[in-house]
Amino acid sequence: TKWVYSFGEGKAEGRAEMKNLLGGKGANLAEMSNLGLPVPPGFTVTTEVCTYFYAHGRQYPDSLRAEVGAALAEIERIVGMKFGDAENPLLVSVRSGARASMPGMMDTVLNLGLNDVTVAGLARRSGDARFAYDSYRRFIQMFGNVVLDVDHHHFEEVLEDHKRGHDLNLDTELTAEDWQEVIKGYKEVVQEALGRPFPQDPQEQLWGAIGAVFGSWMNARAITYRKLHDIPAEWGTAVNIQAMVFGNMGGDCATGVAFTRNPSTGENAFYGEYLINAQGEDVVAGIRTPQHLTIAGKIANGSDLPAMEESMPEVFAQLNAVRLKLERHYRDMQDIEFTVQQSKLYMLQTRSGKRTAPAALKIAVDMVREGLISEKEGILRIEPKSLDQLLHPTLDPKATKQIIAKGLPASPGAASGKVVFTAEEAEKQAGLGENVILCRVETSPEDIHGMHAAKGILTTRGGMTSHAAVVARGMGRSCVAGAGELRIDYKRGIITVRNVEVRAGDIITIDGSTGEVMLGEVPTIQPELSGDFAELMGWADAHRRMKVRTNAETPLDARTARKFGAEGIGLCRTEHMFFDADRIIAVREMILAESEAGRRTALAKIAPMQRKDFVELFKIMKGLPVTIRLLDPPLHEFLPNSEAEMVEVAKAAGTDLQKVQHRSLQLHEANPMLGHRGCRLGISYPEIYEMQARAIFEAAVEVFKETGETVIPEIMIPLVGTKKELDILKAVIDRVGAEVIAASGHKVDYLVGTMIELPRAALQAAKIAETAGFFSFGTNDLTQTTFGISRDDAGAFLPDYQRAGILEHDPFVTLDTEGVGELVQIAAERGRKTRPDIKLGICGEHGGDPSSVYFCEKVGLDYVSCSPYRVPIARLAAAQAAI
Ligand code: PEP
Ligand code: MG
Repeated sequence: TKWVYSFGEGKAEGRAEMKNLLGGKGANLAEMSNLGLPVPPGFTVTTEVCTYFYAHGRQYPDSLRAEVGAALAEIERIVGMKFGDAENPLLVSVRSGARASMPGMMDTVLNLGLNDVTVAGLARRSGDARFAYDSYRRFIQMFGNVVLDVDHHHFEEVLEDHKRGHDLNLDTELTAEDWQEVIKGYKEVVQEALGRPFPQDPQEQLWGAIGAVFGSWMNARAITYRKLHDIPAEWGTAVNIQAMVFGNMGGDCATGVAFTRNPSTGENAFYGEYLINAQGEDVVAGIRTPQHLTIAGKIANGSDLPAMEESMPEVFAQLNAVRLKLERHYRDMQDIEFTVQQSKLYMLQTRSGKRTAPAALKIAVDMVREGLISEKEGILRIEPKSLDQLLHPTLDPKATKQIIAKGLPASPGAASGKVVFTAEEAEKQAGLGENVILCRVETSPEDIHGMHAAKGILTTRGGMTSHAAVVARGMGRSCVAGAGELRIDYKRGIITVRNVEVRAGDIITIDGSTGEVMLGEVPTIQPELSGDFAELMGWADAHRRMKVRTNAETPLDARTARKFGAEGIGLCRTEHMFFDADRIIAVREMILAESEAGRRTALAKIAPMQRKDFVELFKIMKGLPVTIRLLDPPLHEFLPNSEAEMVEVAKAAGTDLQKVQHRSLQLHEANPMLGHRGCRLGISYPEIYEMQARAIFEAAVEVFKETGETVIPEIMIPLVGTKKELDILKAVIDRVGAEVIAASGHKVDYLVGTMIELPRAALQAAKIAETAGFFSFGTNDLTQTTFGISRDDAGAFLPDYQRAGILEHDPFVTLDTEGVGELVQIAAERGRKTRPDIKLGICGEHGGDPSSVYFCEKVGLDYVSCSPYRVPIARLAAAQAAI
């Protein structure tokens, strides 16, 4: 096995496609080298070494040392310097680089190779002793922190003490001699913490750093991040070792990060920040305020500091050319890091840039229009779940708002919530159902869980590429970063700005699209669904095979779903219609009645309301298919809870309270989800389904007579386990249908079908299909009954199952394709064998979950049905599944 891959001098042993082996950073450094871009030479230790390392008790493969030695010698040859040389020392950076980018999660060491001897060599060579000793102290601090595990505030204290003792304020005021003093202090910190001196041997430094990168793959932060982003631990990380270039050697040096298009809006404009005379991490750390790359960026952000376009026009032109070359080559928006050393540009990284959901949409649609990518690629570029963010509210422009500060628009969307100051508090409050805004001076990887729990994130320090901004965009949380007018006092739990005070628990609103911070809750409005969104959805619709319907029973939901492109209703849960204030008493009366006559009396009260419900739905759906499921109540949901409610029911039914109480007790079930529900109710009390069927048929006739629109209702029987159940109930429906048709003189076409939501039904699908005109997979109940896990009680132990690796996902969210999916597949095959044109759909929650939608495509279902807001997600996922 080859463990090490070199790059440099316009060529490389690796390629962009080798991400699994070289990690994202390593593969792209190789690719940029191959493209002839100015990349400092280096090499990548592969992810297979990481895997080997953990599989062999933290030991390296035998030949690794020799390969690293040879690759290092190759760097020395190219740059003409020697690692550890007293006169002309080569310094290297050591960085992690996993397959998927894990921002801020893994550690970096710069300036490696410096020691008491080489630092003097660097000082002589560069002619800048201050720079050399500053580099050395940075190295000790970074190496001490990430490799030797010495807490960095110890170093900070040494520096602060020195500044205080010498009446110095800024790092830039420190001279070479000052830094030498600080270095002495730093070394004492290490000696004290470890009981041994700071390692002087560059080889020991190098292997220490490599070990630390591999070690950090298993640190708690990395593990949390992987869990949040579904990254398997087996992937491992690579290590990249590269000749150092310096952005901090003077005024003709700089370092920066940039996006080839605006990562917030998607606008096709170069977007980035740089710092003159600074080293890599300074930009991201948010310690100094970065300057903009372009004049346009500078103006848009109201900055008075010169843009790179002005201060270093030649280098900027070169960088802009690199930008265009990278976009053409990768055919995607790139996130790049660069350093300018004495007016010479070096590229340190390129990767596909993280972007907000609106930016992803605009970039994909623009790139299709530019001819850079195909329609299909455009469709595949958008994560279906991210559409969620486009469908979320923005601030109502007419609302009055009391703006208290303005920061950077770091991640769009408006969010209101209670002010909290720590990630822990954010998580705790969110767990109690509160909306919270996490307010921090700045965030670090330790805060990720709190950022996840918060509706929005507000920081007072840091730029568009600060940790808070990058992570919030990735998570789709709205974020205002660097709102510098705000003073956060963690101790007192208070934010002050001029004479305003905001305390923990107060409500604020942030707008991550404008950077505004406002007092109180500001009203929001729904987003625009035209333009790029409509265009992309149009392409998706053209490429998908499956239809997308919605689960809806209220006119509002049905209209919303139509607006989002639903092609019919896949599940109208009629029991949800029974809770409305105008009928719940009659419904309870019906449920509690002791005789058929009593039930019919109550049903007669409900019937006209039910007919009106269906008329309304049919009108909204304008001839699109509408699947109406007959009553499926876990009975307990309908029983009156309080004595007051029982009194009301008794009054409506003309009976006394005692009778109602007695009947309530009688109907009580130990296990209502497996109790007298679904078609079992129809078998016991056919008059209920009779009333519902009549309401459906009469509504179809009424709509036809009123609008001329032909409605073909699909009447669905829930919780069927045997063909007999369906036969009996279909006969009831057919009889009522014939009566309505005869009475109205209007022929109504209709289908009678069933839910497949019990394992027995799936297995008996061939027989059931003799009666059923369609199947709709009720994967909520099918998951529940296949696993024998209660939908209502699973929350108590599912997290343990996920932690233990028994279940990768919550099976009620993402379809268990292996087990539940097998039943779906069996039922689809057997149903089709009996009835080749049987309509197959899914209406469990999984119908709006992208990976479950992919499965439905594979099984060949005709449609998926999901809640209204997930309709666009399902449309896109269905298109991706079909491509
Ligand atoms: C199902 O079981 O998947 C389903 C759609 O029905 P409900 O969730 O109403 O039980
Ligand atoms: Mg069900």
